[in-house]
Amino acid sequence: MAMQSAAPRAKRILMVGAPGAGKGTQADLIAKQFGITHISSGDLLRRHIADGTTIGRTVETYVNKGELVPDAIIMDMLRKPVLKASETGGYVLDGFPRTVEQAEAAYRTAGSLGVGVQIAVHLDVPEDELIRRMLARARGADDTEDVIRHRIKVYDEKTRPLLDYYAQRELLIQVNGARPVAEVTWSIVVQLQRAFKRPAAPAPRDRAVA
Ligand code: AMP
Repeated sequence: MAMQSAAPRAKRILMVGAPGAGKGTQADLIAKQFGITHISSGDLLRRHIADGTTIGRTVETYVNKGELVPDAIIMDMLRKPVLKASETGGYVLDGFPRTVEQAEAAYRTAGSLGVGVQIAVHLDVPEDELIRRMLARARGADDTEDVIRHRIKVYDEKTRPLLDYYAQRELLIQVNGARPVAEVTWSIVVQLQRAFKRPAAPAPRDRAVA
């Protein structure tokens, strides 16, 4: 269709990984490598909280406890930056989708935009390494060991099922994230370049919905 608002070959990369897996760091490096935009749902939420916006006041308790923020707020917050990035080459999304429900909602939106390839990257890191990294990072109130363990539990229960969701759609790249940063980036870039060369998958709306 000629009238689509998004570039037909926009690169849409989704980083999936437990808290502490290195999603933010890798998303930043991958976005630079491909000249696309890094969008982090967690960073956007933290900025809203710091600025004391209506969204910020609504989400503060969820974020501090490591609970997931309601989908409607997340979808609303991401709509504009995602649209803008789709028009300028694409994006690396870090922290979204966090549940199969969010992935399905994103799919519906993407379908109406007719945007190009989508690939999910799973940064796999063992739990003891995740806890070690997050304690070392100790960002503030949300980084007590109890909250860290809770965030990992939320990941296992709500986000991990996304891996099957994407694997069934042949969109999943698996990466061992427990290695030095540059090695992990290299491994992601090589696999993405290979994936981008494959013929484009059908637009989401043309696919059977599982
Ligand atoms: P992150 O920086 O990605 O670990 O996100 C920090 C916190 O923001 C999470 O623990 C959640 O409370 C919230 N959050 C970030 N992204 C999402 C999302 N896609 N859905 C729901 N909550 C989210």
